[in-house]
Amino acid sequence: MTEEMPVLVVDFAFRRELAEKVEGNLASFCYQCGACVGDCPAAAYDPAFNPRQIMLKVLYGDAESLLGPASPLWQCTNCYACYERCPQQVKPVEVIIALKNMLHDRGQHPPVVDRVIRTFEETGRTTPITPAVARNRETLGLPPLEPVPVAEVRALLGDEAPAEAPRSPPLAALPPGQGHRFAFFPGCLIPARMPAMEVAIREALDRLEVEVVDLPGASCCPDPIYFKSRDKADWLAVAARNLCLAEDLGLDLFTNCSGCTATLSETVHLLEDPVLRERTNSRLARIGRTYRGTSRVRHVVTLLRDVVGYEAVRASVVRPLEGLKVAIHYGCHLLKPSAVMNVDDPDDPHVLEDLVRAIGAEPVRHRNWYLCCGKACQDEDLPARMMRDLFAAVHAEEAELLCLICPTCFAQFDYGQARVAKRFEEDFHIPVVYYLQLLAFAQGTPYDRLGFDRQRFKPEALRRFEAAGP
Ligand code: SF4
Ligand code: SF4
Repeated sequence: MTEEMPVLVVDFAFRRELAEKVEGNLASFCYQCGACVGDCPAAAYDPAFNPRQIMLKVLYGDAESLLGPASPLWQCTNCYACYERCPQQVKPVEVIIALKNMLHDRGQHPPVVDRVIRTFEETGRTTPITPAVARNRETLGLPPLEPVPVAEVRALLGDEAPAEAPRSPPLAALPPGQGHRFAFFPGCLIPARMPAMEVAIREALDRLEVEVVDLPGASCCPDPIYFKSRDKADWLAVAARNLCLAEDLGLDLFTNCSGCTATLSETVHLLEDPVLRERTNSRLARIGRTYRGTSRVRHVVTLLRDVVGYEAVRASVVRPLEGLKVAIHYGCHLLKPSAVMNVDDPDDPHVLEDLVRAIGAEPVRHRNWYLCCGKACQDEDLPARMMRDLFAAVHAEEAELLCLICPTCFAQFDYGQARVAKRFEEDFHIPVVYYLQLLAFAQGTPYDRLGFDRQRFKPEALRRFEAAGP
């Protein structure tokens, strides 16, 4: 008796559809080496998830298992380790994002994507500025945030141009200034939910003689997780519009968030391709704009390193945080893919350690420093186990706080830490601090002005330095 072999039906229509969504039909270059699996956190925490196998299924045209109800795609944490590792430049994460776009077209996406997109379409942001947020900002002395011209931004979405779209006039170019001057792209999370971090950024940069120019009309970057997984062409057009605003001012731009940096840096990178640039500019033409590629994108930490310099940071400190053990969390999007981000060596980065040293503290690299925060993973269990291992590693080093540079990682680690403690019955109690808060504190901003009291886990260790204040 012969055993019946399963027959795989190659879905050529699926392969064609995917090839149109992902530039260069990347998966066809996969030779199944498995390098992408080695550093994949989703695979490490769930062996059922495997980017090599996903690429094989793409090659086979196995639409059923990739786009069916048991699709593994939402396990991916969007960490970009596979993009970094692949010797064939397949960029597995970009193939996965293109597959998520297809899932979205079929209505098979998590509800969070709809929530984020709805908020974006109503407000131009993914975290709206409510009257309470506006009052809080005013109390903190922060400038009001200009409303996003929502109709203009919405005109960029979709393949069909609207009959008529509103057009904002270009921003007036600034006359030449003296010293360092940058357009500030604040993103959504920090201005609305963590405004004390914005206080820290503005005060710290002011002391370092960096002029911060607000970017009127900027929308959400848009976010590299949910928005990009809905429609990459929409994502690119909205990001290009934000870059056009900095180009109007004739300035380079800096961000305070790794996600915003990733979106805007990848957009600059992708729009070096003449075909993509032309396609994106035809969307921007709907609102009378053209992307020219004249503004550079930086995260505030590279602005500190490359423009201000460690020496000036050190010289601005009035309360050296001597003896403070600070664990470092880089997160993913600041470093990877390194060819796009150009920030540091993703396998042995230094910029955060050096910045922590510049304010007198002692940086600590814990054994799970490379783990991501898991925000993009749509699985309850996997990010919780990842965070648990990360907190355990920080705890083992006896670090007094965990320093990071991304508000999304902050939200995961501060708000999410209590959930993790409850679930694993282990209370590591690790305060999380955004680097610019730490810098501003070391420069003399009072503890009470930096929003620490609103955190779930407060960095009480900083109190011992208060007496050294100005
Ligand atoms: S690393 Fe690249 S070539 Fe190797 S299995 Fe993964 S996608 Fe394929
Ligand atoms: S982006 Fe990260 S989690 Fe997703 S497949 Fe690549 S390595 Fe794995």
